[in-house]
Amino acid sequence: MSRLEQIAELEQRYLLPTYNRYPVALEKGKGVYLYDFDGKKYLDFVAGLGVNALGHAHPRIVKTIREQAAKLIHISNLYYNEYQGQLAERLCQLSGLQRAFFSNSGTEAIEGSIKLARLAGHRIGGAAKSKLVGLDGSYHGRTFGALSLTGQEKHRKGFEPLLEDVTFVPQNDIAALREAINENTCAIVLEPIFGEGGILECSPEFLRECRLLADQHKAALVFDEIQCGLGRTGTLFAFQAFGVTPDIVAIAKPIAAGVPLGAFIVREQLANAISPGQHGTTFGGGPLACRVGLEYLAIVEEEKLLENVARVGQYLSQQLRLLVDKYASAQAVRGRGFIQGLVLEIPARPFVEQGLAEGVLFNVTQDTVLRFLPPFMLEEKHVDKAIRVLKKLLGKKRKKEEIAVSAA
Ligand SMILES: *Cc1c(COP(=O)(O)O)cnc(C)c1O
Repeated sequence: MSRLEQIAELEQRYLLPTYNRYPVALEKGKGVYLYDFDGKKYLDFVAGLGVNALGHAHPRIVKTIREQAAKLIHISNLYYNEYQGQLAERLCQLSGLQRAFFSNSGTEAIEGSIKLARLAGHRIGGAAKSKLVGLDGSYHGRTFGALSLTGQEKHRKGFEPLLEDVTFVPQNDIAALREAINENTCAIVLEPIFGEGGILECSPEFLRECRLLADQHKAALVFDEIQCGLGRTGTLFAFQAFGVTPDIVAIAKPIAAGVPLGAFIVREQLANAISPGQHGTTFGGGPLACRVGLEYLAIVEEEKLLENVARVGQYLSQQLRLLVDKYASAQAVRGRGFIQGLVLEIPARPFVEQGLAEGVLFNVTQDTVLRFLPPFMLEEKHVDKAIRVLKKLLGKKRKKEEIAVSAA
């Protein structure tokens, strides 16, 4: 039996059957590359679902983890650690918001955000001010609160009853948004760019209307930037690219370079709705995770990674658009920076399998969207390699010119 077969067989026997893994077991990584147990090298366009924004085994992250692990990993939130306040300060400076809470994951950051919005809502409008507005097609996580806000039947099915009082509106439908919101709304929750939902951007007009209506109805505007935030758009926060500031922003995936950490950052006016004992976590905001979070932000700045994301992201976008021009099975390019999608006319899974054979890791979401979430130090030459692999597969399809000829 191969190493992969051994690993897979053990999992099949002992794990809950929640994952449909690709037939590859990874042993180590370096920069934008991963290696399996046979030493085969893969160019990584998935980055652990957007977590490994600094690639793999970044020397500064390795050093930070090593040093801090030898000093202190965890102490609980009963006591002060040196780094939680420092990371909160940095995130507040960078976002323009005023206070942070640290969780272990994205879904918990959403959970905390809506708990805070409920407290603030009740304070303004009593028990009735509890309603939430979310978007069709969105994804916010798997706990009951986050799942209740997730506008996709496939994730919700089987787990009902979920939170009541959630109204969904189609993305960018301003009329439906106006219809959905009222004085009992305590929060509008949305991803500025849908990640799992297929890389779909909210329009700036729609976000401005969300801001206006949230202010009019004294509701909190919550942005879920767990996937699109912390640099992927070429700005540190996605909302900075759209020009609309939320009351709460939830972040997670890349913040501690793979060490589990999430956070939500809020405006001062909301912060005083909560008091000691009303929310908390055992693991969240520990010294190891927070110190790595500080190092993450320092590396993004010092290595000028946002500039790289913007430049190489534009190049990726151009190259993908050329594919759309040329191949009938490629329909559209969506997103920006290092959160992009290539919409296919056909299922995307075979592309992922072919990519594995060719040594490139791709990801698929919503069955037909190839999603690109590469590490921030990706270069043009890496894009070229991915495009070459994609062309091989797309090349098997009829070209548009041929279609035009055959239709004539
Ligand atoms: C991944 C993700 C979540 C959930 O985060 P977890 O860390 O998996 O709990 C929530 N919202 C968005 C937009 C995500 O991409």
